[in-house]
Amino acid sequence: MAGPDPTPGSALAHDVTADVAIIGAGYSGLAAAHALQQRGVQAVVLDANPIGWGASGRNGGVVSSKFRLSFPAIAGLHGLDAARTLHRLAHDGVRAVERLVDEFKLDAARLEHTGSLRCAHTDRALRSICAEADWVREQLGDASMTVLSRHEIAQETGSTAFVGGVLSADAGTILPLHYVRGIARGLRARDVGIHENTPVLALHRVDGNGGVILRTPQATVRARRLIVATNAYSDLTPATAPYQRELVPFRSAMIATARLSPACDARLMANRRSYTETRRMMKWFRKVDGRMLFGGRDAFGKEGQTTGFDALRRAMVALFPDLADTPVEYQWSGYVGMTFNSLPHVGRADDATTFCLGYNGAGIAMASLLGQHAAALALGEHPELSLIAAPGLKPVPFHSLRAPGVRLVAAWYQFLDAVGA
Ligand SMILES: Cc1cc2nc3c(=O)[nH]c(=O)nc-3n(C[C@H](O)[C@H](O)[C@H](O)COP(=O)(O)OP(=O)(O)OC[C@H]3O[C@@H](n4cnc5c(N)ncnc54)[C@H](O)[C@@H]3O)c2cc1C
Repeated sequence: MAGPDPTPGSALAHDVTADVAIIGAGYSGLAAAHALQQRGVQAVVLDANPIGWGASGRNGGVVSSKFRLSFPAIAGLHGLDAARTLHRLAHDGVRAVERLVDEFKLDAARLEHTGSLRCAHTDRALRSICAEADWVREQLGDASMTVLSRHEIAQETGSTAFVGGVLSADAGTILPLHYVRGIARGLRARDVGIHENTPVLALHRVDGNGGVILRTPQATVRARRLIVATNAYSDLTPATAPYQRELVPFRSAMIATARLSPACDARLMANRRSYTETRRMMKWFRKVDGRMLFGGRDAFGKEGQTTGFDALRRAMVALFPDLADTPVEYQWSGYVGMTFNSLPHVGRADDATTFCLGYNGAGIAMASLLGQHAAALALGEHPELSLIAAPGLKPVPFHSLRAPGVRLVAAWYQFLDAVGA
């Protein structure tokens, strides 16, 4: 068995064998590698790009303990037991981040458990999130959500655009790129092979023993099991493209302003929480090193194009008129993986292959957790996943129409937001 190559940045240049091969070195793939390392199982991780190139290095750093679907909605659709299990998984996700930060001493990732504040843009939206907080307290016994008045939310955020809000205490912020790179560094120090710039070009099943052979540009990997953790970037090569058909990739964009003046810095978001709002085309924001970071889902245009950034800046100034003259110094975008049922999916594509994907834009905590569960599943264990357990690959219907479909849905949501519906 060839040993791992721990040199950062180096592509895999020699053939290796491992118990488990993992494709994708974002939170999902690295959390899976960590879970395997802890069980003494030899894993090798392959990524087509440098660590953090995918969503794990581009995101807004909002660490949350929720799913896109609210817990009352989950209970309404699937029953109270399902809501209970998903509620536990959501909070387990935050614990998974905390454990990785502690274990690998990732102080540079600056995890802050300051809570997440959901800001209501209309009275109707406020009634809805308050009802959700009541339901979670009464039905799930979770009193970590508290309601804030219009005055309190203006004090908290420095914006008068919101009518009230709900604070979730079990949430916070992190520096995403430091987090993902720190996990990779920690795993390499434990001799886990992580190979960057190594796209998996082809996958072959081995008849008989059920293993897999992965072809990369310079070398071949043989493994008994495979974990695919490529999420919304699965179509980088044809080998992983089938996993992209599980998802509707949605472009998400972010801007970061110049450093705010000391007065503005003190007035806006003094508690350093993460903030989201209730519009369907949700925006989120937080402060990092005195800069405002502002993000939103912008369905128009491809990654790398400049469309969406001006709209994002306008949305930021509408909420924070104080920032009208503050220049934007950085802007970037990436893809999040949305699913048809608004929940992540972890499952087996065949008897050798496990996959985890579809965090619907809230993957810092969830990918850190579900990567571990994917590893357990790959080893034949039975983690309790409730609705997240996927029976196999189930492509999104009419997947080829996803781009026009996303544009249509986004335009409809923008209209509903504009009329306050
Ligand atoms: C702009 C933006 C803002 C976001 N904000 C937040 C936020 O504030 N809070 C939050 O919780 N979530 C947020 N998210 C979502 C979160 O970042 C993702 O859910 C999470 O990072 C997914 O991690 P992952 O490991 O599954 O995928 P990724 O980090 O995308 O990693 C997938 C990796 O697979 C590799 N890959 C793909 N195909 C192949 C192949 N064939 N061979 C080898 N390698 C391959 C890619 O190079 C990539 O590195 C945001 C996402 C974006 C884009």
